[in-house]
Amino acid sequence: MSRIASVLIPMPLPEAFDYAEPDGMALAPGDQVAVPLGPRLIRGVVSEVRDGHGGNRPLKPVAERLDDPPLPPGTLEFVQWAARYAVDAPGQPLAIALRGARAPKPRPQRVVRPTGAQPARTTPARAKVLAAAAEADLSPADLARAAGVSSGVVKGLVEDGALAIHEVVAEAAFAPPDLTRQGPDLNPSQAAAAEALKAMATEGGFAVALLDGVTGSGKTEVYLEAAAAALTADPDAQVLILLPEIALTQAVIARVTQRFGAAPGEWHSDIAPPGRRRVWEAVAAGRCRIVVGARSALFLPFRKLRLIVVDEEHDSSFKQEEGFIYQARDLAVARGKIEEAAVVLASATPSLESLRNAEAGRYRWLRLAGRHGTARLPDIELIDLRETPPEQGRWLSPPLVAAMAETFARGEQTLLFLNRRGYAPLVLCKACGERMTAPDTDSWLVEHRYTGRLVCHLTGFSMPKPAACPHCGAKDSLVSIGPGVERVEEEARALFPEARVAVFSSDTVFDAREARRLVESMAAGEIDILVATQAAAKGHNFPKLTLVGVVDADLGLRGGDLRAAERTYQLLAQATGRAGRRDRPGRALLQTYAPEHAVMQALKAQDRDAFVDAEMAERELAGLPPFGRLAAVIASGSDAAQLDDFCRAMAQAAPNTPGVEVYGPADAPLGLVRGRRRKRFLVRADRGVDLSAYMAAWRARVRPPGAIRVAIDIDPYSFL
Ligand code: ADP
Repeated sequence: MSRIASVLIPMPLPEAFDYAEPDGMALAPGDQVAVPLGPRLIRGVVSEVRDGHGGNRPLKPVAERLDDPPLPPGTLEFVQWAARYAVDAPGQPLAIALRGARAPKPRPQRVVRPTGAQPARTTPARAKVLAAAAEADLSPADLARAAGVSSGVVKGLVEDGALAIHEVVAEAAFAPPDLTRQGPDLNPSQAAAAEALKAMATEGGFAVALLDGVTGSGKTEVYLEAAAAALTADPDAQVLILLPEIALTQAVIARVTQRFGAAPGEWHSDIAPPGRRRVWEAVAAGRCRIVVGARSALFLPFRKLRLIVVDEEHDSSFKQEEGFIYQARDLAVARGKIEEAAVVLASATPSLESLRNAEAGRYRWLRLAGRHGTARLPDIELIDLRETPPEQGRWLSPPLVAAMAETFARGEQTLLFLNRRGYAPLVLCKACGERMTAPDTDSWLVEHRYTGRLVCHLTGFSMPKPAACPHCGAKDSLVSIGPGVERVEEEARALFPEARVAVFSSDTVFDAREARRLVESMAAGEIDILVATQAAAKGHNFPKLTLVGVVDADLGLRGGDLRAAERTYQLLAQATGRAGRRDRPGRALLQTYAPEHAVMQALKAQDRDAFVDAEMAERELAGLPPFGRLAAVIASGSDAAQLDDFCRAMAQAAPNTPGVEVYGPADAPLGLVRGRRRKRFLVRADRGVDLSAYMAAWRARVRPPGAIRVAIDIDPYSFL
């Protein structure tokens, strides 16, 4: 009996393709195979094998089973689930899941080792080389350097047969975690939370807990206890810890390494391809038992995932907005269900979605009481910029500057928080009023002084800052409006010339190593004033940081989308929470033009519950998440008339379903990106509606012309 293999291909194709299984290949779901697609051979993954043949059209055979580990059943099921949820092609999440499998293997290194044979002639230089070679595997050049001799000496010993050259592949092993090590003694509220999590992680079965505690309350210590319990209970168990930012993965990797005496697998976009391959294979083989990573680590081929931690679970960076659009926190819960694993969502400012699930009893709610030990939460004060504005052309108000001066005088550190990269968010011509915008995109160009360029943060387009206005030709007429972190840095340097000032944003810190360096130097007290975007405002422990100044507390409230207030609250609570750990009391000053706003009042009173209650009531009234569901459709095309026609047809094709409302099409606020016009629909549905199924049905009714792209965003975070 011949058999058919359905093969998923990591490309945006609507479904798996069928191939004939060659005799004797004995394929199974999850196997990685090479299959012909058009003129090429391409890697795919078998999703199903069934009896049959292609009918009257013979199927092409699978070309080869690849010598790479198969995707475990849970990973394969998760990939398919994620595609259905996101209303996208299964090849999209599959491409993420195969990122490590497709990366090149680490290249073998040439090392020299002693053969045991005596050289024909012994000299002091030769003796030094042989001694060094006996100690470590080194390349010929490194060996010569280690022995302090010329490379000719090494070469001579190889020719003599006393040394031999070997090709070795860097050890793919991960040191196993040392589970005999103990964490710190937990305080009673930590111990209670840890016991609950340990039980969840060792009993097996799917369950979700919300670990809710202010910054510094010991959430990390508590979930590391649960990780230790899961790893101890089952020698094959694996643990995944997800973080929203690469910079934060570094801090948690250090904590994990310290706790378990072995480094975890590290996974994020900054890991070079051979390193990815190494982690991917070790995870698939079960040799890597702890992974710390960014959202795409969720797609790794775990064999026995027992515990998933989503740290800073409220963070909107868990939402992937491009390519395959997904919310990693929600998918983590889905993966936990598929793997029958425990899921821990940790945050000082949980998302309203998670709070709602905890209130409704769907998640176990574990609250930690206050900061650990003597550390206190900072005092939070509002600076009313209408009363004490900064001087003309400056951004730091007198009360903030005075607090910075006191802090500096005490030898303590200040963090100035401004969630805006670059020097100035807008450049305009004072002669004609022209705003500098990107040529093919509806967005202002942001001035970057370090590079002297104007940059579109949306598309990456950039150009040198022109000497004359491109519109009216006036010379030296371009002025920078508003502050970014670089401009605040300039002001801080001018105010405190003796202070050591640094900037932390994705422009100054672009890889994990640089992030680690800056975090370490801040932790070591080598920086007095750190000006930072959200990249540094979260999760770090800086013992000497006692003052946080929020330069523009109102920034996130402008242009208000669904989560503007929630996000502002979370971000500012996180940023202000950096102040004062250990035994030093901290202070946070928020510069605002709207001190009476509910968000500012809640921050000042440190009354999260009051803020959450008010926000929940509003959302419930409007039927918005977490009380209802949202999805967006973004249609784009370069021909405006064609796009309009298509959107009209799409509106008409929307299925009529009770509990679902479709709004649009409307011009997107970002109406033009990379030369393509954009239109949006917004869909609101009652909680009980399977919104993914609705969107899939709608999508199946329309056939966009080739030049029009349609993206579906389930649970949108951006409304631009
Ligand atoms: P969170 O993750 O909630 O911000 P952390 O786990 O990072 O909190 O804890 C904050 C600081 O307090 C860390 O330096 C941590 O090591 C320390 N800490 C927390 N709990 C304890 C404890 N029970 N014993 C000793 N140190 C603790």
